[in-house]
Amino acid sequence: AKHQGKNRLCRYRDEIDGTRAKRLDLAKELDQALSDCLIEVHYQPIVDSRTRGMTGVEALARWTASSGEAVRPDEFISIAEESGIINKLGLYVLEKACRDAAAWPGLTLSVNLSPVQFRSPTLVGDILQVLNRTAFPAARLELEMTEGYLIEHRERALPVIEALRAEGIRIALDDFGSGYSSIGYLRQYRFDRLKIDRSLVNGMLRDEASTNILQAIALLAQSLTLDLTAEGVETDEQAQLLQLTGCSSLQGYLFGRPVPAEAIDAMLAATRTG
Ligand code: C2E
Ligand code: CA
Ligand code: CA
Ligand code: CA
Repeated sequence: AKHQGKNRLCRYRDEIDGTRAKRLDLAKELDQALSDCLIEVHYQPIVDSRTRGMTGVEALARWTASSGEAVRPDEFISIAEESGIINKLGLYVLEKACRDAAAWPGLTLSVNLSPVQFRSPTLVGDILQVLNRTAFPAARLELEMTEGYLIEHRERALPVIEALRAEGIRIALDDFGSGYSSIGYLRQYRFDRLKIDRSLVNGMLRDEASTNILQAIALLAQSLTLDLTAEGVETDEQAQLLQLTGCSSLQGYLFGRPVPAEAIDAMLAATRTG
């Protein structure tokens, strides 16, 4: 039995090493892909909950590795965060998105900001440089971030967010309702929007707890005068209930999956002529 246990341990260690080696390979390949401009940016529509017309898009990074397989964003973003490539990747996505979205004057552009990017002392300057280079109006840019870093490193994060807001960039809190239970930090930061996590939207029609939490979040957003977006909306039933609950914006497969820039061009052209 002892022998077997040891074998199992060895196999386990092999697997860990294998995964680590694979992640290192991927990190190198990702870095190369960035230099070769092989990272793509797709855009998912965000709609007004009442009119259901498109009011904005969220930029989402896409990567097809040299093996031909698409690497999931959750996976390559975490690899980029571990290896530090995320600073370059984040600014690359921002710049590409600003260039694409310049052709969509009525739409707000949402771009994700990784907590790791906050460690870069040049973050604010880098973002402003991208806006300058692309002549993209700050008022049309919304940066999405998750709460973990903001709570744990408030003294570092707060001035960064204040500086961005002073430039007219809006700040959205992403994946709200998925992690921390503390909400005290909502008083310290001035956010513009809460994005309700997909898991709550998912549970909404199935369990009462999700519905109650959703209603509480809606009240919270209202009293703090924050805009409210629900993510991961897949059914009309969800959309109707979310609109009634007080979500002004909706995002999810019901309204459109993330698509290349040309598809957004086509959607806008269709609404103009049709
Ligand atoms: P996120 O910021 O929460 O983005 C929303 C994710 O939900 C996207 O997954 C989107 O495709 C997916 N989604 C949207 N509507 C639905 C729906 O109705 N049903 C379901 N099941 N899923 C839906 P995606 O593109 O795979 O990205 C995953 C995560 O990777 C993002 O979550 C974000 O945290 C991260 N990410 C993607 N691009 C970037 C980027 O450029 N920078 C950073 N820092 N993170 C990124
Ligand atoms: Ca997001
Ligand atoms: Ca989210
Ligand atoms: Ca997320």
